[in-house]
Amino acid sequence: MKKSNFINAVNNIISNNKLSHAYIIELNNYDDDYKLVFDFIKLILCNNKENKFDNLNCGSCNICYLIDNGNYPDIKIVETDTNAIRKEQIIQLQDDFKNKSLLDNKRVYVIKEAEKLNLASSNTLLKFIEEPEPDIIAILLTKNRYKLLDTIISRCQILKIDDTNFSDIKLDDYDIRFFECIFNKSLFTNYNFILNNIFIDKNSTFIRFNNFITYFIKYLKEDSCFDDLESNLYNILNNYNLNQISVLINIFETEIKKLDYNVNLKLWLDNLYSRILLEV
Ligand SMILES: [Zn+2]
Repeated sequence: MKKSNFINAVNNIISNNKLSHAYIIELNNYDDDYKLVFDFIKLILCNNKENKFDNLNCGSCNICYLIDNGNYPDIKIVETDTNAIRKEQIIQLQDDFKNKSLLDNKRVYVIKEAEKLNLASSNTLLKFIEEPEPDIIAILLTKNRYKLLDTIISRCQILKIDDTNFSDIKLDDYDIRFFECIFNKSLFTNYNFILNNIFIDKNSTFIRFNNFITYFIKYLKEDSCFDDLESNLYNILNNYNLNQISVLINIFETEIKKLDYNVNLKLWLDNLYSRILLEV
């Protein structure tokens, strides 16, 4: 089922009473996925604790009614039509939450397009997240969590609304070739081939590395079968220990963030390769 990872994760959070005070929800599409975010918020706020994602029709409750109509007083949305969420918006949000909830319930704020937080607004928000009131839940929405500050990411639990199934990740021969070059330390001798065929532009490079990360996590979990092509990569990865694989994932996660800046792809790849040589 589509979105099932998100739904299972949320059901677990609610039924085990493991609500965290801050979430980053990575989604593909605001039109389709926003409703799921609000279903999550209803599960947090509704008094009908038997609710689960699959049977969210509590129907009788005022809370869900107000949420459905956008009138619940203790949900605040931060958004912008411009290209930056300003520091003043976060200060306003903090002011809005100064007084206790009149409804004696949890309070939730949602930051849409959280990647639009600039340094000033990020740092203001960071203080807010770091000193949480027990009844305030932060939900940051983004299509790409790598665009947020590390300090924010590290303080939030990450949920993904994602159609991607592990089995949807398809690696191609070029991916395998790239990893052979990394493993044989022959990246520089195959440099032009790699730049001309594999990492042609930032967008395709971003997609490849996201696939690598997903694939590596799948490898670590050993929870899927590997097809012929992937078993080639599997054999390459078998030469690394689990700690090295985790380091690789970490390098990919931090480096793909930089693809967004005005970076030259060749320099980017140089830097990536040096990090792999030094750290893995
Ligand atoms: Zn309800």
